[in-house]
Amino acid sequence: MTVTAMNEWVFIDIPDGAVEGFAGCDYPFPIRKDRMDDFEKLRLEMFPVPVLVDELDEYLDEFPGRVERYREAGAYLALCAAVDTTIDNCRERALDYFRLSLWFDSSNLAVRMSYAVALHALERRDEAIAEYRIIIATADIRQWWRAWMLCAQALMFLGRDQEALYLLRDAEKTVPDDPLFWDTLAEAQDKTAPKCPACHAALPAGAGFCGFCGARLS
Ligand SMILES: [Zn+2]
Repeated sequence: MTVTAMNEWVFIDIPDGAVEGFAGCDYPFPIRKDRMDDFEKLRLEMFPVPVLVDELDEYLDEFPGRVERYREAGAYLALCAAVDTTIDNCRERALDYFRLSLWFDSSNLAVRMSYAVALHALERRDEAIAEYRIIIATADIRQWWRAWMLCAQALMFLGRDQEALYLLRDAEKTVPDDPLFWDTLAEAQDKTAPKCPACHAALPAGAGFCGFCGARLS
């Protein structure tokens, strides 16, 4: 398997079919020579994509001029590593791989969406919102309306209801065909609606009295 040795690095090819969906790479992958035994042991079980990605990351720290060689493959393999570590329930570690994938290719909206959702699931809502916002700034809303919806849900959780409503009103124009979206919009409208001071029911703007308890509103 060893192709060439340079400094303390050895290089391997990823065998066809070892990583699902991998489109190949013109360059072999670097592994530190002293990690090679571990790597070979691990691959008896399953091709250890996260280890390969860790080694590539280390290698590119040492040889930053070689990033272009691995940009496309690195983005994909780092995403695979994120998925693998998520499945292994190492979800904090998965975040590092999502970030690495985005470092290789910051334009991949699907990766950024997965990263945002992973942050959101870990209740790191401010960071998730920041990622959703990046998607919202560039993506086609008809395809990526979930970013708008999930961002609004995170905002409402943090009590930023008005911001959530503003965001969803923007999305409303394209009418996402999904009841989840409309439920979220209804929730935002309810949270931001004026409330009856007596019974706290949500009221339509400009109402003269409460339609639920009859209290007069000034
Ligand atoms: Zn009332």
